[in-house]
Amino acid sequence: MHQPATGLVIFDCDGVLVDSEPMSVEVLVAAFNRAGVAIDDAYVYENFLGRSMATVVETAREEFALTIDERFLDAMRQDLYQRFRSGLRAIEGLTAALDDLERAGIAFCVASSSNPERIVLSLSVTGLLHRFEPHIFSATMVKNGKPAPDLFLHAAERMGVAPACCAVVEDSPAGLAAAKAAGMRALAFCGASHATGPRHHQVIDALRPDVKFDAMGDLLHCLRV
Ligand SMILES: [Mg+2]
Repeated sequence: MHQPATGLVIFDCDGVLVDSEPMSVEVLVAAFNRAGVAIDDAYVYENFLGRSMATVVETAREEFALTIDERFLDAMRQDLYQRFRSGLRAIEGLTAALDDLERAGIAFCVASSSNPERIVLSLSVTGLLHRFEPHIFSATMVKNGKPAPDLFLHAAERMGVAPACCAVVEDSPAGLAAAKAAGMRALAFCGASHATGPRHHQVIDALRPDVKFDAMGDLLHCLRV
């Protein structure tokens, strides 16, 4: 079947543009533990990776009878933002990959489960904000978060590119499922520091992404295979 040329690359943020997942998992586990709920890193990776805070709040209530209120969320955000400001790094090779896309005339944007404030902070402390603004889309802009296709479809519509001409770069199973549900090419990025274990690869492979890669510098090549 003929593969239409890619006109838009939609990047997830956490675990794709910035290596944030180890920090956010640590903060989430600590916050749950403080509230008396004994979850660990493995639980968070399995159940919350790539999902919105709305989903986390719902799961906390349903699975653990834990009510996450504004105070809880605010304390967690402050803890996380502090860590981002002192140590968040962009994914290696990303700047060069964005340069490649620009030279090839391929547009790009970010579509993340995080709230707009967190996306902007992540991109600004890593020097990436000017590469993406104003093309920043958050799960808070749509009704259903990943794995529903809503956010990617919203981003494609706003960027003026048909879903069949979009490629999504995602690290999480929820995000890859969302890309497929949106009728877009699903590129699984496995180069972030959390995405290395055999269990992670097993879950990603089961979703049959169109491409799986672990060096961001290979992105343009991956779009052309
Ligand atoms: Mg992600």
